[in-house]
Amino acid sequence: MHCKAAYDTLIYMKISSWQEELRESSQDLLLLLEKLGLQDDSLQRLSNMQQPFPFKAPRSFLERIEKNNPSDPLLRQILPVSEEELQHAGYSKDPVGDLDTQAVPGLLHKYHGRVLLVSTGACAIHCRYCFRRHFPYADSNPSDQNWRAALEYIRSDQSISEVILSGGDPLMLADSKLAFLFAELAAISHVKRLRIHSRMPVVLPSRITGSFLALFHKFRLKPIMVLHTNHVNEIDEKVEQSLARLKSTGMPILNQSVLLKGVNDSSQALAALNEKLFDCGVLPYYLHMLDMVQGAAHFAVAEERAKEIMHELRLSLPGYLVPRLVREQAGAPYKLPLL
Ligand SMILES: *Cc1c(COP(=O)(O)O)cnc(C)c1O
Ligand code: SF4
Repeated sequence: MHCKAAYDTLIYMKISSWQEELRESSQDLLLLLEKLGLQDDSLQRLSNMQQPFPFKAPRSFLERIEKNNPSDPLLRQILPVSEEELQHAGYSKDPVGDLDTQAVPGLLHKYHGRVLLVSTGACAIHCRYCFRRHFPYADSNPSDQNWRAALEYIRSDQSISEVILSGGDPLMLADSKLAFLFAELAAISHVKRLRIHSRMPVVLPSRITGSFLALFHKFRLKPIMVLHTNHVNEIDEKVEQSLARLKSTGMPILNQSVLLKGVNDSSQALAALNEKLFDCGVLPYYLHMLDMVQGAAHFAVAEERAKEIMHELRLSLPGYLVPRLVREQAGAPYKLPLL
């Protein structure tokens, strides 16, 4: 009896710790800049905190930012700057045509054999370049009712062999919600694989709890995780440990990055990232060209430069450590390789 209670408390503590960490996420930009020793006015920070996509990052991510470095590659990914307010030709609110591919609210059926379930609109971090920064999550929000419609759609289409949980970030959901989804999907016999697209093992490594890992125990579907990491400095010791825990389930882990000016737009930066990921048991998957989403133009890398970087990467790395450079194009039947 005592043991059971102690065990429950332990589980509770484990569950609550990542959720607590999340609640304590920093939304206070001024405090952060002060801690980093940075002069506010030199950064051309965006002052309007009432914007729909405000600054947000967990403390453990902020700890990986270098002090006194206004061009730190991690800071650049999360710092709202005034450049976001400039309008640029060709940049829109739904650059990849997601809204046109919704089979039912929150379920995107764009490519053959796989569907993408927007399982939550929330994220642990707000990446300034995100193509979903304007996505009307409130309308397509995967409430339990929408899940029911999505599950019904998946059940009725035998060509669907893979379900991708994406978002937002699906690992924002509590394990009990994930358990429900996993069980519903496992009960659909033509579904073979469950893919999870998540930035949380990197951004909030404490999310990878024992109770999360237990979801994959004796699971009928083949799980696969696709991380989102852009720079080697994102991987500290805690992240190494979270990836080791994930690896212990035996699931393949891949990584996708976005090619971002001032963050990872050199072959050296990408080589360092992919070598480090390999040390953690993670293989590169995609290197995405920036989606032309309004407010992200200052991250754009020209196509010529992107190809040059790929060439240099191939000169310096084994083939399996070179990601595929792709562009997402509305209406295309797959993510288009650039070379
Ligand atoms: C990227 C994406 C997928 C997965 O594509 P893969 O090439 O299999 O990784 C599926 N559905 C949507 C809507 C996507 O954007
Ligand atoms: S974690 Fe992914 S979905 Fe969330 S803001 Fe960052 S890039 Fe966008």
